[in-house]
Amino acid sequence: MSIPTGHRLIACQDCDLLHRQRLLRDGERAKCTRCGAVLYRNKRNSLDRTLVFSLTGIILFLMANLFPFLTFQYEGRVQESVLFTGVKELLVQDMWMVAILVLMVSIIIPLLKIIGTLYVLLPLKVNRRPWRAAFMFRLVEALHPWAMVDVYMLGVIVAMVKLSDFATIVPGAALYSFAALLISMAAASAALNPHEVWEQLDVADRI
Ligand SMILES: [Zn+2]
Repeated sequence: MSIPTGHRLIACQDCDLLHRQRLLRDGERAKCTRCGAVLYRNKRNSLDRTLVFSLTGIILFLMANLFPFLTFQYEGRVQESVLFTGVKELLVQDMWMVAILVLMVSIIIPLLKIIGTLYVLLPLKVNRRPWRAAFMFRLVEALHPWAMVDVYMLGVIVAMVKLSDFATIVPGAALYSFAALLISMAAASAALNPHEVWEQLDVADRI
């Protein structure tokens, strides 16, 4: 049976002090009375903003994988690469461990993170609890540090600067999409309020 807000207790993650939970207004946050740590917050339109940035993320992810990433022009030769080319080249050079790592952190995990977020949040928008929602949401939270789109982007920029001395490099639509994906994923993470998602899952259970 669900306990109504106001009668629920919440423990501070830092010092374990118990507090009675209360409803917050938009933009408000509750702090621990003993150590000052943030207990939970009420981000404005958190669910809607996370959904918008995640849906944008899916479109940008598709564009980043389907369009040309970079074009190299060197001594009359032109070579076009896509996002997956880096992984393929590493496999050709027998560096399969690095290839799998790059594939995971730059393609598979970001995709799983976006799909997982949409899987949990879209049904919540209509007060439905998706199948195995708690497991999926925990997975999304756990994947967060492993979606290293930003690190990959930094590597691409460093490589572009180094290669620009002896080759002409033309950024493709996928590169811009990937950069925009980085921003949309960061915005989705900033907008997401895990506390609210757990609350909504609880409400969906009661309907
Ligand atoms: Zn505390």
